[in-house]
Amino acid sequence: MSDTIFGKIAAGEVDADVVYQDDDCVAFRDLNPQAPTHILVVPRKPIRTLNDVTEGDAELVGKLFLAAAKVARQEGIAERGYRTIINCNAEAGQTVFHLHVHVIGGRPLRWPPG
Ligand code: 5GP
Repeated sequence: MSDTIFGKIAAGEVDADVVYQDDDCVAFRDLNPQAPTHILVVPRKPIRTLNDVTEGDAELVGKLFLAAAKVARQEGIAERGYRTIINCNAEAGQTVFHLHVHVIGGRPLRWPPG
């Protein structure tokens, strides 16, 4: 069991604006959105960072991205375009150490990011 805030949200112990969930993943709105649509997709399994993903997690990571695409379609941004981001460790700005995919869209996004 994860002791991070995202682990608690995935376990239903802490409230969040959940937009999608299945047996493996939970998706909820970011508390501090960076765009009109900003959703976080997390595996129920607590994995600290992308560096901690193992071969055994390959199917789970695939499901995480399937859930991200599903959420984008649900939000109506799939065809316009959106960005998926995984921040890994300090220099990428990771602040919550439970693997999560940001799904960001609903406005034109700059590239490259800062
Ligand atoms: P990171 O920088 O780790 O990739 O992203 C963490 C994200 O989680 C940030 O965008 C932050 O706004 C969001 N966040 C942090 N705490 C909470 C929370 O308790 N609830 C929700 N919904 N989002 C959170």
